[in-house]
Amino acid sequence: MSVAGEPQLIVSTFPRSAFRQLLRTDQRTISQALIYRTNSYIGHFLLRDSHVRTHYDLTHYIQRDNVWEYMLDRLLSAVAESKSLLIIGVGLESGTISRAGVQLVAALESTVACDFLETYDIFSPDDIIPKDWAQSYETAIVLTDIVNTGTTVEPFLAELQRTANGRRVKVFSIAKMLNAPPTISGTPLLAGVETKRLYYKPTECPLCDIRQPAVHVSKAADFRTVVPQQLTPFDFWEMIWETKALRRGDVYAQAQRLLYRTDTVEITRRYGGWLSNIIRQRYSERFPKSRPDAICTVAETPGKAFASLVARALAVPVVVPVSRRDLARTGPSGLPGDTQSPFDQRAKVLVVDDGINKGDTFRLLINFCRTADVEFLGGMVLDNRLDAAATGDLEGLMGGRPLFALYTWSSKGL
Ligand SMILES: [Zn+2]
Repeated sequence: MSVAGEPQLIVSTFPRSAFRQLLRTDQRTISQALIYRTNSYIGHFLLRDSHVRTHYDLTHYIQRDNVWEYMLDRLLSAVAESKSLLIIGVGLESGTISRAGVQLVAALESTVACDFLETYDIFSPDDIIPKDWAQSYETAIVLTDIVNTGTTVEPFLAELQRTANGRRVKVFSIAKMLNAPPTISGTPLLAGVETKRLYYKPTECPLCDIRQPAVHVSKAADFRTVVPQQLTPFDFWEMIWETKALRRGDVYAQAQRLLYRTDTVEITRRYGGWLSNIIRQRYSERFPKSRPDAICTVAETPGKAFASLVARALAVPVVVPVSRRDLARTGPSGLPGDTQSPFDQRAKVLVVDDGINKGDTFRLLINFCRTADVEFLGGMVLDNRLDAAATGDLEGLMGGRPLFALYTWSSKGL
């Protein structure tokens, strides 16, 4: 009972619709958050009944306030007017499902009697679904992470329908593929967002046709697997195509004309999560048991973008960007007179740039580091256009330390 003059509890009276308006949540925003702001993993993932190219980190996705508000709104309209609700969580990404289930219960529990049961691989539908659920609940909803073919949730829906006794059965997925079925076991599939990607039947998979190395997925962590062949040429060019990171015929800083130039800033913005996996794995293979004290790069936007990604991936505390002017002024007699070494004495340094075209910038970076008297760990770049001999020359300048590229161009003259 409210007494005149009593302070109102602001939080509970703040209307949800206003909150959503504040977060500007519409279908387009939600799709863009998936494509541009969610960690995604690329590969050739073999699931039980389908092959897929991309995996989105949906746990990361629904942690965004605007995404969650939108999902909650969709979920609430799916279970509208039910006075009692049974939620069955099914799927690989238990982080996503738990979060959605627990928060849905929290949003409803003052008005609706609801329970959330989550299943794992070892449970079959009749282990988890109470036979007499229809006596206690008006509605049952299967909550899942992503629907490809629908075969993961199908047995759970079938069991709920078998025991429904006239009660309502629903299915809601955080995301679905473009060619996911519109109904599963006769129940319309409701989804928060469509990924604009197809799943492929194992017998009709274009990734199999072009022999992309494959990863068998039985748990969510398998999507993070990086195979030795990655980045494959298909990975690299698809990443560039998708991020619209291809520039043709630009004259770049060194006035060298290239047919194709790639935009590292866009690539790291969109694929940073996945590239971090590759960086960590390749680094531990090539440079075992040594961690850089510092990363040295050229003080230009693309170099700094890739260097900060490498620094984050490897937890390197110091990134030293060197201006092109200082690189050019560093001679055999030492660093320019007005420049002090930015490194600690005998610091172990990883030389990083976004890409190597002819190797001129990389040679200047090596020269700067050698003049500053560092210990070379080696080099790392996103892409390298040099052949093995020219790459070997740069490694020679670093005392034979390895120079590693996430992608090496196989065609000359592009
Ligand atoms: Zn395949």
